Amino acid sequence: MAEGDSIRRLAARLTSSLAGRDVLAGQFRRGGEIPPSFAGDRLVTVAAVGKHLLMRFGSERTVHSHLRMQGSWRIHRAGWRPGPAADRVGAWFDFGPAGVLAAHAMPVLRVLPTAREHEAVGHLGPDILTDRWPAAAPAVATDPARRIREALLDQRNVCGIGNLWAVEGLFIAGVWPHTPAGRVDVARVLDVIARMMRLGLRNGSQSTTGDLRRGRTHWVYGRYRRPCLRCGTPVAFVAAGSDPYDRETWWCPHCQPQP
Ligand SMILES: [Zn+2]
Repeated sequence: MAEGDSIRRLAARLTSSLAGRDVLAGQFRRGGEIPPSFAGDRLVTVAAVGKHLLMRFGSERTVHSHLRMQGSWRIHRAGWRPGPAADRVGAWFDFGPAGVLAAHAMPVLRVLPTAREHEAVGHLGPDILTDRWPAAAPAVATDPARRIREALLDQRNVCGIGNLWAVEGLFIAGVWPHTPAGRVDVARVLDVIARMMRLGLRNGSQSTTGDLRRGRTHWVYGRYRRPCLRCGTPVAFVAAGSDPYDRETWWCPHCQPQP
C-alpha cells in the first residue's frame, strides 16, 4: 500500500538505482500542452514527502507524483518502450543499461520547477517519519469534534499516515476510532503510529503484528467479523463515507471500547 513508509522505500530504491544517471530518451505524456523533454537531463535524487514522490533533475525540474491506490513506478529492462495500448503510461525515462523508468496509471503526475516544489507539498503537515512529527499533535486536535480517524488521515495536519497505519495505530493505542479528537491523547497515538511506521520502514514490511503469515499480518485491518488477534472478539467495520478522509475503518469493540 502506498503509505508514507512505502513511498520512502520507493524513493530510496529509485535513488540507489538511478540517481546520477543520464536520461537518453523519454516522454512525458501528461500535463501541459507541450510535453517537456527530459532527454539529456540527469536524475539527481528522489525524495519522499509524506505520500508524495519528488524526482529532482539536473535541469532544476521536479517530477511530482502521487500513487494514491493505483499508480506505480516501475523499472523495465533496457530498451523497453510502452506499447501502442499503453496509454496508462504517463511518463517514461530511458536510463540506458540501468533500464527504463515508467509511471503506470499515475493519478497525479506533473513537472514543476524544483524551486516551486512547495506548490506540490507546501500544504502538508509535518511528516510522521521525520523528527518534526510532535509539532503535528496540536494540528490533529484543532477540530476537537472531528473523529480521530479522520483527523489522522488529513495530510494537512500530519503527512504520511495512510489508512492502514491509522487503523492499526488506533488499535494498538486502544482508542475507539470514532472518538472526537479533542478527547484523545493525540501525542500518544502519533507516537505509536510513528514507532510502528519506522519499524515497518526498517523491516521492509507493513505487518503490524510482527507475524508475516497470511491472515496474521494485521490486528484488525481487513478483518471484518473475524476474531481480533488479541482477544478473539469479532472485528467491527464501517464503510468509507463521502469525505475523502472518512475511510473504511475496522476496530475491536473490546480492545477499543467506546468512551
Ligand atoms: Zn480485541
